Order: sequence, then structure tokens, then C-alpha cells
Amino acid sequence: MTILKTLFMLAFIPSFFTQPLLAFPRNDLKPGGVAVLAVAPSNKPKPRVTYQKIPVAIVKGNQNWLAVIGLPLSAKIGRHQVSIYNNTSKKTTFKNFHVKNYKYRTQRLTIPNKNKVTPNKKSTKRIEREFFLKKKLKKTYSASTPHFNFIRPVAGRDSGRFGLRRILNKQKRNPHSGMDIAAPRGRSVKATEAGRIIYAGDLFFTGNVVYIDHGNGLLSLYAHLSKINVKKGQQVKRGEIIGKVGKTGRVTGPHLHWSVYLNGNAVDPSLFLAKKKQHKKANKKK
Ligand SMILES: [Zn+2]
Repeated sequence: MTILKTLFMLAFIPSFFTQPLLAFPRNDLKPGGVAVLAVAPSNKPKPRVTYQKIPVAIVKGNQNWLAVIGLPLSAKIGRHQVSIYNNTSKKTTFKNFHVKNYKYRTQRLTIPNKNKVTPNKKSTKRIEREFFLKKKLKKTYSASTPHFNFIRPVAGRDSGRFGLRRILNKQKRNPHSGMDIAAPRGRSVKATEAGRIIYAGDLFFTGNVVYIDHGNGLLSLYAHLSKINVKKGQQVKRGEIIGKVGKTGRVTGPHLHWSVYLNGNAVDPSLFLAKKKQHKKANKKK
């Protein structure tokens, strides 16, 4: 192959191949963090692992089976435990880990649409219905092995970190369950990893939203879209366009709200992406 031809081909490699990818999320034992624990040697059969009675994601590492556990934002500081069930010996063993304190910051926002902060009666009924739907979606646990080579779903500035204690129009609300990326309306939103669409529709707070099941309780959610390009049941590849950035639902302006769930808990999405700082350093060296 000629050099010219190779260069020509390289120019057309999609941008996500040039982003550094992680094989596993970073182990970060904070509330809303992720615990990556070795639970059995990988030459032994795959064990079944539960945390707070909920099955967790299990993936094969080089030497061990690894449990990838999502820690709730409400996790107590101190000792936590997983149960490891050996399918051959039918025995259960336990493994401990320690959750450490982390101080999330406070963010104050003014939402122009008051009904999205203090909903009226009609909206309250809708919110109740959707609360149960979202609860059900979060419990999804499919058998397929998840992959963690996450890409950033949209290019843009980080405008709201995960875990921020939120005060909306001077009223205290739930902490921020995802990461906000500011981007202009209409910019393409990509699937962070391969998976199956388990929900695509309009909900009160999230607006137009897409849920992807990546397997073993690993889910991702993309909210406030102006347009949805996928349907429930559809299989998507990593980097496939699933919708466009918008400002539907409870927002101050156009942005993507991106959440990641593990074993039913919303966890910090930044733990699934290569650190930006390292990226800058690498650029500086050049
Ligand atoms: Zn958000």
C-alpha cells in the first residue's frame, strides 16, 4: 500500500478510534463511584456476585473474574460487602471493601419553566407513572457481557458534574445523577458503547430520552434530546448516532445529560472515560 493511500485511509477513521479507551472503569470507592473487585481466578467458572442483594456485572480480566459494582450516591461511609456464589461448590463467600468520604459541590440553577420544579397536579400524576417506569428500566439485567470502552457521547464543555447537590429555583432537589455536556442544539449524540435500546421516548424531567442496555446491569441514558434516531429493541454499535442535542424536559438550555447505571445505581460517568488531564499532558509533550 502506498503511503498516500494509507494517509488517505487514516483521515477517514472515525474520531472515536483516536480517543483513549478504558478496558474497565476507574476503581473509585466514593458514594456514586465504582468498585472493581477480583472475585475468583479466571481459570475457574464464572461466579455470581451480588451487592445489596442485586446481581452485579462480572467480566473476565487477565487473571481474575472482576465484579464491577456501582455504589449508590447514598452509600454509607465505611465497610461494604459483596456475596460471591460459586456455582460449582454451591458455596457463598464474602468480600469487603471500604467506601470513603467525598464532598460533592452544590450547584444553584434557575429553571425558567416553573412547572418543571414545582409541578402542577396533572404533571404530578405523570411524574408518578414515570417514576415506576424509570425504576423498572434501572433494574434491567441482561446476560450479555458488557464492554467498557466508552466514548464521550457528544463533543462539548462539561457544564455539570455528577453528584452536584442541586438547588433549583431556591428549592433543594435530588443530587445530579449524571454528567452534563453543553453543546448546541442539533449536534449528534452517539452511543457510548454497543448495546440494545430499552427505552426511547419523552419523559417529564428528562424530555426526549434514550436508555441503552450494555449488558449485566450496565446502562446508559441520554436526556433532553431534540430528536431521537433509534427505536426500542434496536441494537446499536459504539459511536452510532442515537439522537440530537436539545433542551426538552427540565433544563436551563441545550445540553446532553448523560447518566451511567450499574446494578441499579447511577454512578459517575467520568470514571468510564480516560482522564482529560492526561490528554492535555500528552499534547504538551508534542
Ligand atoms: Zn444533568
